[in-house]
Amino acid sequence: MTDQEKTGGTDFIRARVRRDIDEGRLPHGVVTRFPPEPNGYLHIGHAKSICLNFGVAAEQGGATYLRFDDTNPLKEDDRYVEAIKQDVRWLGFDWGDRLTHASDYFPQLYAFAQDLIRAGKAYVCSLDQEQMRAYRGTLTEPGRNSPDRNRPVAENLDLFARMRAGEFADGAYVLRARIDMASPNINLRDPVLYRIRKVAHQRTGDEWPIYPTYDYTHCICDALEGITHSLCTLEFEDHRPLYDWVLDNINVNFHPPQIEFSRLGLEYTVMSKRLLHRLVDDGHVAGWDDPRMPTIAGLRRRGYTPEAIREFCARIGVTKQDNRIEMDLLEFCIRADLESRAPRGMAVLDPLKVTITNYPAHGGETLSAAWHPKVADLGGRELPFSASLYIERDDFTESPPKGYKRLSPGETVRLRYAYIIRCDAVQKDAQGNVVALECSYLPDSRSGEDTSGVKPKGVIHWVDAGSGVPVTIRNFERLFLVPDPDGDNFTRQINTASVAEHRGIVEPAVLASGEARFQFERVGYFVKDSVLAETFNRTVSLRDTYTPGA
Ligand code: ATP
Ligand code: MG
Repeated sequence: MTDQEKTGGTDFIRARVRRDIDEGRLPHGVVTRFPPEPNGYLHIGHAKSICLNFGVAAEQGGATYLRFDDTNPLKEDDRYVEAIKQDVRWLGFDWGDRLTHASDYFPQLYAFAQDLIRAGKAYVCSLDQEQMRAYRGTLTEPGRNSPDRNRPVAENLDLFARMRAGEFADGAYVLRARIDMASPNINLRDPVLYRIRKVAHQRTGDEWPIYPTYDYTHCICDALEGITHSLCTLEFEDHRPLYDWVLDNINVNFHPPQIEFSRLGLEYTVMSKRLLHRLVDDGHVAGWDDPRMPTIAGLRRRGYTPEAIREFCARIGVTKQDNRIEMDLLEFCIRADLESRAPRGMAVLDPLKVTITNYPAHGGETLSAAWHPKVADLGGRELPFSASLYIERDDFTESPPKGYKRLSPGETVRLRYAYIIRCDAVQKDAQGNVVALECSYLPDSRSGEDTSGVKPKGVIHWVDAGSGVPVTIRNFERLFLVPDPDGDNFTRQINTASVAEHRGIVEPAVLASGEARFQFERVGYFVKDSVLAETFNRTVSLRDTYTPGA
């Protein structure tokens, strides 16, 4: 079942696709593309576009291209290409043999540009950037024609050929479409189609000293690949007339419709690649895969699953309204996914030593517990128990408020899967801080065979001191202090306290199991860090439950 069927959702794009099918307009089926520029890592906003493009096609038995929009070699890099492929695959999508690059089409793009010149629809212009801006006009004033606008075709062809041959310096000339300098749509005021850029390209090397612009390239690639629905975000709405103009004026027999939808925005984070680059480059985060980043790599390292991200994308739907989605929804999706599949384990984040005074000091036993209360298939694990244990510091208080359900002097609690203990004495340091507890256990209260008749105050988690493994636990908060960080105040809005590290201790089976994701009981969902040894990242808290230190 697809995500869409699962949530019963539909949207205006899927409705359009279905109509096109019903009306017989798609004899070769649905073809979509996801066209990232390899100038950064993918983020959760891209996931929305990926789920949409791959989802729409897959639901109709169609196909999807992964096409790298690599027309700006200054900002692009092969390392981003590899990261993007990894992320799309990890999200669960398969482009099969439909991996393409805008640069694959450089020869065709060049030939179409020559056709436009021959037809009097493009010209070589020598205005520099500043002049071009001055000639362009404003939203309220029409632009002015470039002095080169009526350059003869033969001269344009010659100059364009020499641009291509590398005869001119960067910025000396551009190729422009000859449309309408008075158009109310600035995108149609003789937009640039090619610029000179003597920079090596990650795929084509030094072959091309000129590079086509995005607007010129994108529509032609869509047409050549037979894209039946070119889905893009709303900021391209004003570019649609140019998309259509290019395809109407070159000799291609396919003209995809461009359909716009709203970008995903998420509270307490940023999605623009420019700002994400700054977070990384200026060292505000540890890298693109920092678990606080909204990147796919960051979410993966944080412990998010592809299923949860796809579910999130299905739930937010596809509309034309710009909005910022609450982080709570993303967290809801990962909790729902992990709840049913993450093994349970015990970890103590802020350990307080407990000695069971009436338990054999050099003895011990092995208890057992299921990995999951409802999923028997996950099996169980062994749980060493001895006279020396750790409990969570916050699970003990000397002065319990009314109704306190944890441990306090003279009171009892059950150690999960083990025995009931009573706190008999409190050890303190010179400053009066509690450093350890002396407790006694009820030998006939073993979990599952309790005949003690004692009703403890509550149940707490614990880890055996001798066999427990010390680990680093990383807790994350939101990366920004405000729900809607903006570009200008960006650095002042960063939450500098968004990561906190603790030394904790986990039961041995957690590390021995080979699993990556766990629910540490009563504490939250965690994932073993993929890089740092013996480190767990908190994916998300358990809702409505106690969190240590909270
Ligand atoms: P930038 O932040 O530099 O503007 P971009 O969003 O243009 O980056 P691309 O690599 O060009 O990045 O994006 C690839 C595709 O993903 C585009 O089709 C784009 O519309 C879509 N996309 C990007 N951001 C979002 C978002 N926040 N929500 C939905 N789709 C998005
Ligand atoms: Mg873009």
